[in-house]
Amino acid sequence: MNSVTEADVAKLIEIAGEENVSTRTADLDAHSIDESWFPPHPADVIVWPSSTEQVAAIVGYANQRKLPVVAWSGGSSLEGNPVPVVGGILLAMYRMKAILDIREQDLQVVVQPGIIYDDLNTALGKKGLFFPPAPGSADVATIGGMVANNSSGMRAVKYGVTRHYVLKLKVVLADGSVITVGSNAKKSASGYDLVSLFVGSEGTLGIVTEVTLRLMGLPEQTAAVVASFEAMEDATGVVYDAISGGLDPSAIEILDETTIAVTNQRQGLALREEPTLFVEFHGNEAAIEEQLEFLRELCEDHGCLAFDQATNTEARNKLWVARKEAHDSIKESHPGKTMISGDVCVPMSCFGEMVHFVHQVSERTGLIIYVFGHAGDGNLHTEAIVDRQVEGEYELGLAATDEIVNHALEVGGTASGEHGVGLGKRQFMLTEHGDSLAVMRIIKQTLDPNGILNPGKIFPDSLGA
Ligand SMILES: Cc1cc2nc3c(=O)[nH]c(=O)nc-3n(C[C@H](O)[C@H](O)[C@H](O)COP(=O)(O)OP(=O)(O)OC[C@H]3O[C@@H](n4cnc5c(N)ncnc54)[C@H](O)[C@@H]3O)c2cc1C
Repeated sequence: MNSVTEADVAKLIEIAGEENVSTRTADLDAHSIDESWFPPHPADVIVWPSSTEQVAAIVGYANQRKLPVVAWSGGSSLEGNPVPVVGGILLAMYRMKAILDIREQDLQVVVQPGIIYDDLNTALGKKGLFFPPAPGSADVATIGGMVANNSSGMRAVKYGVTRHYVLKLKVVLADGSVITVGSNAKKSASGYDLVSLFVGSEGTLGIVTEVTLRLMGLPEQTAAVVASFEAMEDATGVVYDAISGGLDPSAIEILDETTIAVTNQRQGLALREEPTLFVEFHGNEAAIEEQLEFLRELCEDHGCLAFDQATNTEARNKLWVARKEAHDSIKESHPGKTMISGDVCVPMSCFGEMVHFVHQVSERTGLIIYVFGHAGDGNLHTEAIVDRQVEGEYELGLAATDEIVNHALEVGGTASGEHGVGLGKRQFMLTEHGDSLAVMRIIKQTLDPNGILNPGKIFPDSLGA
């Protein structure tokens, strides 16, 4: 791989215009680290493209010159996914944020990748539509970043993940050519599923410049419940009985008592500091009443200490702030410390045991490890808090997180439910995928033979293909 020269910068200016190219330290620094615990690394140059044609010209040029190209959108990843670890050209995609077409009658929308999730849903809401996955980072995560990470979130338990909504993509390939994959049909059995290939590829196979999403109609009504329990096993028991018993929540989130304690402090709430479930339902009044009654019975069977319904939008929003801000509340509660994030996802029957396992690791190592997540999907987030000034603590935190991931893999789970592989989960790829990792390498090699696209990511030994 080559380094960026002055002549390269001049070429980028020729393609995108002087005002859209920067080598200023402040700009490079602002795009050198996402929300993960990895050390920052700057690109050599940043370009803010405004069209597919510009992206194609930049990537095609970079390929000839063998220069790294890393797409950056909201920069909210938690695994180092958009960090330009070997420098090169950083494509800041967030100015390409137009809604190109709301196809109301087809329940579809065509967007540029830089639009923020919440902004898209605000516009769609005016037409009674929405794009459901709901990541906790909804106010910063962009559709391009969500497609590239196959993000999901609180509503995945009912509505599924980003992949289930992507119908069509315009993609710039590593040689600068532009292809469109997928169609406007709701389903298709026509050839290999290239849409799915690009979704979750973290900018390593191509740069997405246009996305067509399937949408849903906004629900008639929403109800939310907060239920607290004496023991974590009771809360996870409710989750298992609810999902296996056919309850259809639009979200079922779990938070352990330490996570509740920090969200109380940081968000000014007064939730009971016990293992807690936040549950939300979408539907009509009768269906919601029935679901609420079923949930109440399940919670009582598991000895719940409190079962409170958020009766109005304000109360509901307050509840969701607590859950959405869990990550930031933890971060703010430990200034100067490092948070090592985990994102395992396990089969439903193993979720309770997985939570117990994490608490055991925390006890054994003496580390604070916060536990919360999208319980209905078996997706558990962990935040191990370490002080890098204390000798050996960082290594202990990494080892604890590794142990948690390895346990998830042993029970048939995955290293990443929604945050992607990035830098942080590369070392588990062989264990998780075995021989099929070689097939992934062949795909990477075929689509990006010079290894210019987001080098250093996904593959365990990767600096390129
Ligand atoms: C507080 C907090 C809560 C979070 N909660 C959730 C959650 O509930 N669910 C969840 O899934 N994630 C969550 N995340 C992680 C993160 O927000 C998501 O993965 C998000 O979708 C990333 O989007 P982004 O726009 O920030 O992308 P970035 O971080 O900028 O990039 C993500 C990846 O996409 C690539 N990329 C960006 N744009 C393009 C493009 N146009 N073409 C090709 N590749 C591209 C980048 O190279 C990188 O590999 C959370 C993060 C935080 C900080």
